[in-house]
Amino acid sequence: MQKITYAAECPECASAVTIEAEVRVSEIIECTDCRSELEIVSTEPPELALAPEVEDDWGE
Ligand SMILES: [Zn+2]
Repeated sequence: MQKITYAAECPECASAVTIEAEVRVSEIIECTDCRSELEIVSTEPPELALAPEVEDDWGE
């Protein structure tokens, strides 16, 4: 089975980010290059925006 992916540009570092076709708008993905969290704002055409900063309360 062939996996369909989209390519979009990271708004932070401008590198190409691969998005799997099954993602939905408002899902958060991570840029493989700069590790920014990116929100899918559109899938046709694929468009990314920086996700709002979220407090990490998981503790470490
Ligand atoms: Zn990036």
